[in-house]
Amino acid sequence: MNLREQRAQKITDDQIKKIDNYSYKVKSQSSKKWYNIISIETGFICDCPDYKFRKNGYCKHTISVEIQKGIRKQIEQVQQKQVTINPVKIDGCKFCESDNIIKKGLRNNKNYSIQTFQCKDCKKKFSINIGFEKMRATPQAITASMNLYFNGESLRHVADSMKLFGVKVTHQTIHNWIKKYIGLMDNYLESITPQVSDKWYCDEIYLKIKGDRKYLYAMLDSETRIWIASQVADTKYTEDVRPLFKKSQEVAGKKPKVLLSDGARNFMQAHKKEWYTRYKEEQTKHIRHIHFKNDRNTNKMERLNGEIRDREKVMRSLKTDDSPIIKGMQIYHNYIRSHMGINGDTPSERAGIKVEGLNKWITIIQNACKN
Ligand SMILES: [Zn+2]
Ligand SMILES: [Zn+2]
Repeated sequence: MNLREQRAQKITDDQIKKIDNYSYKVKSQSSKKWYNIISIETGFICDCPDYKFRKNGYCKHTISVEIQKGIRKQIEQVQQKQVTINPVKIDGCKFCESDNIIKKGLRNNKNYSIQTFQCKDCKKKFSINIGFEKMRATPQAITASMNLYFNGESLRHVADSMKLFGVKVTHQTIHNWIKKYIGLMDNYLESITPQVSDKWYCDEIYLKIKGDRKYLYAMLDSETRIWIASQVADTKYTEDVRPLFKKSQEVAGKKPKVLLSDGARNFMQAHKKEWYTRYKEEQTKHIRHIHFKNDRNTNKMERLNGEIRDREKVMRSLKTDDSPIIKGMQIYHNYIRSHMGINGDTPSERAGIKVEGLNKWITIIQNACKN
């Protein structure tokens, strides 16, 4: 037992109060103060000086709650219903809708070849290239470009890499693909609600786009890591972040019970203005004493910061407005990229939305175009 655990043992039962399922108060051993202990995904956080100073994710108060109360961290059950997005299958004739069709070799389009089918009933031949009709490059080349870009490559690097596959494109063309397909994907994905937990994080990320100062505000779910919503603004007033609160509630179909932030004034006021209610059961608790740096409990947001800062270098060279790019980052983060911190799952899988198929980009795009 280490020193802090020994000290935690000295905190008696009557010095620990359970407030609700998320929070406790523990009496200070040296003053009359009571500290707030809040349960979050990876354990407990405390607002005592020791917790803040040590930044190792625990103090005697959090330990006392864990040990003496015998409370183990319970992972919130987030998932209720599961939605699966399956690859689109060609299952019928384009002309007579008969499902009596067979594969009939490849047909060369101007730039690449696509699968053709023949209908055994009406005898007509046809090919279907859902979502990628009239594109100069294959679905694979297009989606690989997007994947490279959202993984941190610059548009010019992506264009260079495409040459290795025999695809000659300019970086502007790649940017056009991104705009087109992110728009399609976003439209489609908007109709599916992720099942998020009751604890969210919000944070502000400073960006420089084409030399202009911008702020990106992001709301994330603590348990699933779903990036719920974002808001780009020129300034950092309360009115700039209020839309983020509105959007997040719309996307998730609910408000969280606990909101974690760095305590910036704009977040505090937006929280009050958007989510205030007189009914205690419906209130969102705003926890605002968190240090995001080096805190093992909050390094998720740091990681998102990392993802975005890599991107920022690339974004400086962007000529057009940033919204499809931010949307694309969000889609990549939620649906495409595997996250080590959640066993290689995607956040969307955690939130009840599974995208099947080897190429998740293609699965989503074709579903978006089919509907
Ligand atoms: Zn403490
Ligand atoms: Zn037919």
